[in-house]
Amino acid sequence: MGKAWLGIDLGGTNTRVGLVDLGGLVAREHFSTEAAQGTGQWLDNLRQAAYKLSGQGLKPAGVGVASPGIIQRPQGVVTRSPNLPAWNGFPLADEVGKALGLPTQVENDANCYALGEFHFGAGGGRDLACFTLGTGVGGGLIIDGKLVIGPLGTGSELGHTLAVNGGRTCGCGAKGCVESYASATGLLGMLSDALDQGRETELGRKSKASDIAAAAQAGDGLAQELFSQAGWALGQAFANVATFTGLDLIILGGGVSSSWPLMANAAENALQERLHLVPPKRIEIRLAQLGDDAPLLGAPAIARDN
Ligand SMILES: [Zn+2]
Repeated sequence: MGKAWLGIDLGGTNTRVGLVDLGGLVAREHFSTEAAQGTGQWLDNLRQAAYKLSGQGLKPAGVGVASPGIIQRPQGVVTRSPNLPAWNGFPLADEVGKALGLPTQVENDANCYALGEFHFGAGGGRDLACFTLGTGVGGGLIIDGKLVIGPLGTGSELGHTLAVNGGRTCGCGAKGCVESYASATGLLGMLSDALDQGRETELGRKSKASDIAAAAQAGDGLAQELFSQAGWALGQAFANVATFTGLDLIILGGGVSSSWPLMANAAENALQERLHLVPPKRIEIRLAQLGDDAPLLGAPAIARDN
């Protein structure tokens, strides 16, 4: 029998469960996370999904869970997970392990995303820095084939590195983080500030990040400017990460990365301006290939490596 693992992607809306072998995703299930109903119902739904996947005839050797928030190690308890309050302090690794009868590891979802792209996607097994541009900006660093977690267990929050000195206030409490610019939240915050200043644009207060992208493509000057600010912030972050790690491959994923063409020029200019110890042209920037499947494919790698 071939080797297989279960990957679980715990999202604010849906939980996705995948049976993964060394070749990739064999089969998948999903159910509504129903965060309001708490963790007991969630564990029941999870057991059912795993039972359905057992029909594939592969016996998983372990489970990797991709979770938002900060993971307390080695217990695998999730803390600081604003979209899933019921999960704050929940012993996720223990409870999933008991429910499924399998050894279980928990890892931050952006880290799992990076692992997915490393093993099965745009990384192609090359060490990389991964930025996921969504509601916020997630980050993952893979060096010597391993995730960089650090003794604090909080690595690698690339979205909260400094992009603009004294810049916009971020959800984490610091000022000028990349996330305050190159995420949906950042773009909408910048739009709101511009509207407060009476800037001319076809966009209004109810716009979404995708509306800003559509307006930029249609020639709206303010929308283009916002993406160029986002790109500039990203370029600063790319330069930082290349300087302190020596990595030469950056992977961009998440919904906002589909607007990369609107950000690329500014990012490349920032990289040119900021990166001097390494030739900027050595830094390769690739779009992620796996989309939402990346964490599902990456989480089992945690179980496999432990
Ligand atoms: Zn921050």
